[in-house]
Parts: sequence; C-alpha cells; structure tokens
Amino acid sequence: MEIQIHNPLDMHVHLRDADMMSVVAPLTSKYFSWALVMPNLVPPVMNTADAIWYRQRIESLTGNDNFTPFMTLFFHEWLTREILEKAKDHIMWIKLYPAWITTNSEGWVKSVLSEKAKEIFGIMEELGIVLHIHGETGDFVMDREANFMPNYLEIAKAFPNLTIIMEHITTKAAADTLDMFPNLYATITLQHLEITLDDVAGWALKPHLFCKPIAKRYEDRDALLELALSAHPKVSFGSDSAPHPQHTKECPGCAAGVFSAPISLQVLAQIFDRAGKLDNLQKFVSDNAVNIYKITPNTKTVILEKKDFVIPEKYWDVVPYRAGETIDWSIKEVK
Ligand SMILES: [Zn+2]
Repeated sequence: MEIQIHNPLDMHVHLRDADMMSVVAPLTSKYFSWALVMPNLVPPVMNTADAIWYRQRIESLTGNDNFTPFMTLFFHEWLTREILEKAKDHIMWIKLYPAWITTNSEGWVKSVLSEKAKEIFGIMEELGIVLHIHGETGDFVMDREANFMPNYLEIAKAFPNLTIIMEHITTKAAADTLDMFPNLYATITLQHLEITLDDVAGWALKPHLFCKPIAKRYEDRDALLELALSAHPKVSFGSDSAPHPQHTKECPGCAAGVFSAPISLQVLAQIFDRAGKLDNLQKFVSDNAVNIYKITPNTKTVILEKKDFVIPEKYWDVVPYRAGETIDWSIKEVK
C-alpha cells in the first residue's frame, strides 16, 4: 500500500546553527516543503537582519531541496511599530516564550498581559503578523499548560483579528480551549500523539522522550489524538523537532527536546493507518496549515509505502525519537 502526501509542512522546528544545523537542516528540507524555523539561537533572532542572515545560512544547506524555511522573530518588549513594519515582508510570525521557558528564553516576557505586550499584539494584529506562543506558566510542571489557558482567552478576546497559535499543545485543557475563539489555533507534535508521562518517567527514565511541555496523562494524549486523527481544521503539525547532542540528553540536567524531523512522516503514517484515518493525514500535515496561514507552499510530493522501516540509532550525534524501533511505514520517494 502507498500514500502520497503533497507539500508536507512542519510548522515548528528547531534547526539550530553551525555543525548541528548542517546535519539537521537537510533532514527537514528533504521531506518537507516548508518549515517554520524557531528563533531561539544563541543569541536569538531579534530583528529582520538576523532573520535574513539565518535564512541564508539555512538555504546554503538546503538549496537543492525545493524547500522554504520561514523565519520567526523572538517576541521582546522593545518591538516597535517601525521594527514590525520592516519585518513584515520577511517574517509572518513572532514567537513568544514566557521568561521562564525553554532554551535561550531567559529574561524575556515576564507577563504576556503587560501593557507593552498588548500594545505589540495590537500592532501585529493590524499588520497581519501571526503570534505563536509557548503557552506554559511557571507552576507545577503538570499544570503549566492548563494554567496558561486563561491568557490565551484574554488575548484572543482582546485582539479578535490576531491569529494566535497555541504551540505544541499537550493537554485536554488546550484541546477544549481551541474552539472557544475563532482566532485560536494549535500545533501538535509527533511525540505528544503517542507518549504520556509514563513513557518518560514511569519506569526507567527515558531522556530522549523528555521535552517541554512534558508529556501528560492518557486522557490528554487521547484528546490530542482525537484532534489530529479527525484533522480538526484549526490544528496543524508542528514537530518541535529539537536536536541535542547525545551527551546533553544522557546526563544529569538532560536537555529538553525530542528529535523527530526525519522520521515524523513515517510514524504519523503508522498512527493514522492504525486508526483507520489515513485519509486525514494530508490535512493534518499540510492542508490545514495552508488554510490557517494562507500560504502557498513549494510543490513537493512524498510517497510513503507500508513497508518496515528501522529508525536509525543516531543521526550524527543525535538520537532520534524511537531510535532502533521498526515501524510499519517508510518513505519510498520524494519528488
Ligand atoms: Zn520548540
């Protein structure tokens, strides 16, 4: 059995920089038509010039793959109308990390509802720039995402024409919030469709499954699966593929992030196939994002076949999601 996916899109990926970028960028560009590239480099992507320079570095590695990297800016409180107007032709998205979250976000937005943040949301709304948010509070780890939900509602209500993406949702609370306002959308990763906290820490600790937001309860995972398998029109695929060298995962102080880019489509095919929902995979990995973001992707077709595929133990120095496991689907051709 074969299926064709037209223009697969990854709406949230970390391509890093330097040696790591030279390994992982081609693994995304090979299989995806477009990717939305996160800005948390060291130092982060702060302005249009940074974004253009980063894009050029990515394109120098992916130039032969009919692939477009789309750039995001770091949300910071000194964004002005002038900066945003200049950025608008190069950047359709701005990524907001609350101050306490994720790699390289220390010192950023302390309150997503500050007067300054609201002023910037207003300008973004006017200019048609999409807001991506890593929606977690600084509370107890299992409650962080659910406790953030009122912030989404407040922003969505105050800025009805601002497109707001709830990134990498992991809870039933987020799934239930999605339809409360027409301008709220979401992305879902691969791993959050499969794993729960039991897989990460229920028995032996699995550092390669540790990511933020952390995987939650069975009912949370099932709510995400329901959204993805039904190809809910407000949900698109964002792998949040985040490569870390093996020694930074298998150590005290394990880095957060799951590397899934080169195996995402194959594992997604297995998930959708086993649920009898293969017909909805095209919408989840492409069509929904095309509609939400009003974009025209590069033309690329990935042909997947139902044939065993052993996920490599490593890509360079990075251990991928489900390393060494055999799955039902493999990539036959990309054209
Ligand atoms: Zn991320």
